[in-house]
This record gives sequence, structure tokens and C-alpha cells, in this order.
Amino acid sequence: MPREMQLTEKLEILMSLAAEDREGPPETARPLPPRLRYAADAGALRPLNIRVLRGSGRPIKLLRILMTNACALNCHYCPMRRDRAMRRTLLKPEELVRIFLGALRRGWCEGLFITTGIPARPEKVTDDLIAVLEMLRVRHQFAGYIHVKLVPGAEQAQVERITALATRVSVNLEAACGDTLERVAPEKQLATTLVTLERARQVVVANRAEERAGRPRDGRQPGGVAGMTMQFVVGATPDSDRTIMGRVTSLYAGGGIHHAHFSAFRPIRDTPMEGAPAAPVLREHRLYQADWLVRTYGFAPNEVVYEDNGNLPLAVDPKAAWALAHPESFPVDVSSASYEHLIRVPGVGPRSARRIVDERRRSVIRGLSDLRQFGVVTNRAGGFLSLRGRRLQPVRWTQQLALWRPEDEVGARHEVYDFSPGTFR
Ligand code: SF4
Repeated sequence: MPREMQLTEKLEILMSLAAEDREGPPETARPLPPRLRYAADAGALRPLNIRVLRGSGRPIKLLRILMTNACALNCHYCPMRRDRAMRRTLLKPEELVRIFLGALRRGWCEGLFITTGIPARPEKVTDDLIAVLEMLRVRHQFAGYIHVKLVPGAEQAQVERITALATRVSVNLEAACGDTLERVAPEKQLATTLVTLERARQVVVANRAEERAGRPRDGRQPGGVAGMTMQFVVGATPDSDRTIMGRVTSLYAGGGIHHAHFSAFRPIRDTPMEGAPAAPVLREHRLYQADWLVRTYGFAPNEVVYEDNGNLPLAVDPKAAWALAHPESFPVDVSSASYEHLIRVPGVGPRSARRIVDERRRSVIRGLSDLRQFGVVTNRAGGFLSLRGRRLQPVRWTQQLALWRPEDEVGARHEVYDFSPGTFR
């Protein structure tokens, strides 16, 4: 059996492709140019990595590339900031394309995620991103998944072109509020970022509408139809979870956005925020859960429960917090409740709620063991449920809470990341 190649070996081969225009095995490649000498360094800014994207469909293995870790801006929280001493690298568009096609040919990935620092004017950086996309889509006829992080301040025509060629585009908003953003990123303006987001959104919404009307998808010109994403650094600014969720839900309302990413702030060595406390990862997790409730469970934004300081409770997940604040809504009877009521029960997700509704048409639900078969987490749900008018578990809800850990999932996945906040989100 041939030995499975380690990721670091793969990356060395891929980086050697960056230096080589000629066809041939990597060992004949010329040495890397000085600007790429440190590109294979491990650590928080490792510029290449392979990761599996799990969406609603089949998982896709993505090659994620940081085009450059050089940046002309000086955001206080960011390891790539201008004033921080670190080794910088920059891939030219044709080098990035060679690396990706090399990985694709070897079957190491199926799609691409490109993000970048901003070492020059936004228009120049965006021109380079467009060059990458045009080479892949037009010259090499690549019709697979490409996600591109947009650069705030790019021109309208550039944003339209890049979104037309990408499967998904995303925008780093960083903070929910312009004033607080300027405190940690003095050269950034939230208004400029929002203009870029709106320009891309128009393209995405129009292309989605055309697909719904029957236009077949052209993988080489997908028009961002996978939906946009946006990213917030949580805890770098004093913005509360209520403020962040308010911004997120108002942006969702305009359409074209698939989901938000939340990155708990972590202090980075040799930055002005080195001494600032890290945000609890559990806070990031709670925001994902609250976002999930709004996007998937049908909760209205104003139903999300916050503490007096405007943050989500850390001790209980947002669905349990809502359930505890609304005792009048429980118990929910599994023999008659609608799907919409069932998914509001802690421990019942969309799949198990659907199973309950389907199964009770065919057979009689007898108790907790049947519900367990349908995927209900019965030690969480039991105290909130009844069956034909009889409570399924005679415990008080407050006692019920002791039966699960605060970090338990409510549908959303929690990711542990190796990168600086937001680099690859
Ligand atoms: S957050 Fe982005 S713009 Fe700001 S310093 Fe980092 S890479 Fe540059």
C-alpha cells in the first residue's frame, strides 16, 4: 500500500509549482523566488491548507489559499497588520492558479477558497483576484466551487465581475457597528464594506432569481449563487451579541446571504491588542446557535433571549433560554403538535421533528424510547414534552437543565480553528 502523503509534503510540492512555468516533475523546478521563501512556514498564517467544506450537499475538499499575508492596513487585532514584524509572502495570480491546478490534478482538492491581505489599493488587489478567476474559469474552463473573499472598496464593475465568476463571495465586516470598528481598525469604514456587500448582493440575488426561473447553471459563471457569507470578530469591540445579531438579521433580510461567521477574538502577540482578553469560544458558539435558530428553526430575531448586558447567556443554549422564558408554550404534545412547535423544544431538531410528524401518521408513538429512535435527545426534551396529555418526564425544567452541558449543540456545528480570527472564514 503506498504511504498516504502528509499535508506538509503536499504543500511543498504545491509551492514548488508556484516557481515553475515549465511542465515536469517538481524536482526539476527552480528554487522559489525570495518573495515566496517563507510561504511554507507553519503557524497561524500558513498560506495554504486543505479543508473539507460541509454544506447541505456532498462535502467538498477545498484548497484554501491566502494570496498574500502582506497588508497596508494596521487593524489592531490582526496578525497581518502593517506594523507587525513578520515574514511576508505574495503569490502572483498565475502562481496561485498553477498551485490550485496542481492540487486538482492530483485529486487533493475539488474547489478553491481565496483570501488575501490588502497590500495595495483595493482596486489593484481585486484586479489580481479577477485575474485568478478569469484564468481558471475562461482559460482552464474550471467549473467547480470557488469562494472568494471580497476586498472592501473595490469598484462596482470589479465586484460584479468577481461575483459573476465565483460560486460564493464573502465579506469581512469585522464589527457590527461603524464607531466600534474604527476604534480597532482606524483605516476601515463599515460603510465602505457595506457598499461592497450590497454590490455583490445585487448580482447574487439576480442570478438566484434567474436560476429559479429555469436558467440552467453555468459552473464557469455561477454568479455567486451559493450565497454570500460575512464574518464578525466577536469580543474585539464592545458590541454586544444583541447588536451583532441585529446587524446579521437585518442583512439577511435583504436576501442573497447564506450565513454569518463569528470568530472569537484572540489576542495576537506584537499587536496593540496583545493585552486584551480573549473572547470566550463559548460566546462564538452561542452566536452560531442563535443564528441557527433564526435561519433554520424559524425564530423571529426579537424572540432571541439576551441577558441584561445584551449578550446571549453562556450557561444555557439560546433555544433552552427561549424555552425557559416561555413556560406558557410547554409542554408540547408529540401526538398533535405542529412541526413548527416541535422544533422549538430543546433536544428536538428539524430532522427529529419531521420524523415525529411522519411517524405518527403511520403508527402510535408510545413514549421516550420511540422518540429516541427518531433522534430526539430525550434527556433534554423529556421535561418539555407530553404524550396524549400526559407529561413524558415529571421533572421541572430547571432540573432538566442540569441534564445537559452548556456547550451541547443545538443544531449548529462548532469549529475549532488553527488560524487567526477570520482568516479563512
Ligand atoms: S484585518 Fe484585513 S485589512 Fe486589517 S490588517 Fe488584517 S489583513 Fe489587513
